Amino acid sequence: MNLILQQDLNDFDIILEKTKQQGIDFLNAIENIPTSNTYTFDTKSVLNELGLGSIEALKEFNERLAPLMVSSSGPRYWGFVTGGSTPASIVGDWLTAIYDQNTQAVKAQGGASALVEFETIHLLLQLLELPDAFLGGFVTGATMSNFTALGVARQWYGAQFGKDFAKNGISETINILTATPHSSSIKCLSLLGIGSQNYITVKTMEGNREALDMTDLEENIKKLNGKPFILISSAGTVNTADFDDFEAIASLREKYNFWWHIDGAFGGFAAVSNKYKHLVKGWDGADSITIDCHKWLNVPYESAFFLIKKEHINLQIETFQNSNAPYLGNPLENFNYLNVLPENSRRLRALPAWFSLKAYGKEGFRDIMENSTALALHFGNALIENDFELLAPIRLNNVCFTLKGEHNQEKVAPFLSALNDTGKVFMTPTVYQNKKGIRASFVNWRTTENDVKLVIQEMREVLSKI
Ligand SMILES: *Cc1c(COP(=O)(O)O)cnc(C)c1O
Repeated sequence: MNLILQQDLNDFDIILEKTKQQGIDFLNAIENIPTSNTYTFDTKSVLNELGLGSIEALKEFNERLAPLMVSSSGPRYWGFVTGGSTPASIVGDWLTAIYDQNTQAVKAQGGASALVEFETIHLLLQLLELPDAFLGGFVTGATMSNFTALGVARQWYGAQFGKDFAKNGISETINILTATPHSSSIKCLSLLGIGSQNYITVKTMEGNREALDMTDLEENIKKLNGKPFILISSAGTVNTADFDDFEAIASLREKYNFWWHIDGAFGGFAAVSNKYKHLVKGWDGADSITIDCHKWLNVPYESAFFLIKKEHINLQIETFQNSNAPYLGNPLENFNYLNVLPENSRRLRALPAWFSLKAYGKEGFRDIMENSTALALHFGNALIENDFELLAPIRLNNVCFTLKGEHNQEKVAPFLSALNDTGKVFMTPTVYQNKKGIRASFVNWRTTENDVKLVIQEMREVLSKI
């Protein structure tokens, strides 16, 4: 064995102890670690002939790279839709690296870590009150979840014409209908060879909504003259957390032939709360659903899952199967993840979610979710009292707002960059209904009313200076 590796092997406990202590120090200080910084360094580090060993590498990391790290998992990082990591999720993430399983088959000659993934999906279905009719699997994020689901949708579309697009390529125009898709779904249309411009935009409902206008949807369907289509619907749009009417969509299935996909990356968690579950009523009728875990489930990046109805398992295998050999036996019994999703080798990505669900239960996630939505409303009320205006009603956890008054539109960008530069809070710029705006998203388990108070003070100060 290489000497440095041998030394590291001997020092394993010291190395892990140091790493643990570093983790404790960071997590204990997270509230005071800035949400942004301007630190940078020369990235042209020379690769040594002789290695440093882990302890020296850790020293160099701490000197040069650690200063880059911001408190994106802290309580005041409200940009994009950014979750944190709970203690249990970190346990799961650490153990994922330590056990280092390649999670593929359920009946492997080696390990069967895929059973852990099965169990985690089963727990998640209970959390979201969805039936066992879905097959689920873990991918890196909602983008890959949308990709997996829309990949199977594409195969389904071909099958309506007796064609196998996975084998022979796309030979029909694929009709896609959607109102306010997330940008990642559009990226998926590009990746899937459908084309990022090749979708039909359905009108949104009147009255400051981002949800599908059902009348316009049906008119667009009628224009297709009985041809099949793929519907990309939303459980939580990023700007205003709006939801399509899933019961109404479900009833369209009696009349029309379509694949129904729901992107519920964060909004799917509405299902855990009695106050909000009406928003997803009827979503169990979908063919496929996307959910992110690194948002509201508060597990470390990269964690999301797809749910696809088990009745489509053959289409799913046609899309993703890893060998040209015919599939032997019952695919659900002879199951291997590498035949139903993009990756082949994969880590035991379900473990952080498994630990979180076991550690905090239904009530834990209900509390996180209801705390987030209460804080969003609280922040919204404080904004209105402080020279800001809401661009849309607060439906869930996202607050879309701007500076009050048309004349202040050109001040929105400088205000936001000055605010983010304080390092006390981070928010994202947006454009909503042709207005420059700002978005704050509440998903982190640590955020409290005190954080909202602190941010409002900071905003008033920055506003008085620009
Ligand atoms: C965040 C988000 C995505 C993309 O998720 P990633 O995890 O970044 O890949 C897709 N759809 C919606 C609605 C989102 O909020």
